[in-house]
Amino acid sequence: MRELEERIRRDGIVEDGNVLKVDGFLNHQMDVELFAAMGREWARLFSREEVNKILTIEASGIGIACIAAQQFGVPVVFAKKSRTKNIAGEVYRTEVPSFTHGGVSTVIVSKRFLGPADRLLLIDDFLANGAALEGLIDLARQAGAAVVGAGIAVEKAFQPGGERIRAKGVRVESLARIRSMEGGRIEFC
Ligand code: 5GP
Repeated sequence: MRELEERIRRDGIVEDGNVLKVDGFLNHQMDVELFAAMGREWARLFSREEVNKILTIEASGIGIACIAAQQFGVPVVFAKKSRTKNIAGEVYRTEVPSFTHGGVSTVIVSKRFLGPADRLLLIDDFLANGAALEGLIDLARQAGAAVVGAGIAVEKAFQPGGERIRAKGVRVESLARIRSMEGGRIEFC
């Protein structure tokens, strides 16, 4: 999506460790007009899929997912990072290694909010190694829900996540795909 690529070129900052900082418009200060354009694009791409719920992960996916959900007219469920021990049986639970912070988070979704009748669109801000999406796919699998695809804002295509998730047969629609960020120069696919 040209608008997103232009914004990344203008305001994105390449940091050490293959991290792209986009906190001026995506995941700290948020440009909701841009989010709405992204939501419209995913709604167009997934228009035939009868999406009835969007699933994302705390924290930076939530804003994008909410604005996208307005285009689909469906609710958003976000996988919560959990430090407490929930009573067994109440929640679906999975482990997600963090790309940006290191360490592993336990994330949960209440069994009340995901089930076999759901047709889920997964939404997240970035796709790097694919761990966050794999966690969401695992939660959907536990719930018996169908995953119709994943809407990603920024895919770092030089990292293995996109290939890994597509190899599972999941449709991934990334609105900006970065081929390289070497030397701080951002090149799109
Ligand atoms: P993955 O699990 O695919 O390795 O990484 C995806 C998650 O890590 C996203 O939810 C995102 O929050 C974070 N992430 C990965 N790469 C970047 C990046 O270059 N910049 C930022 N801001 N977040 C990233």
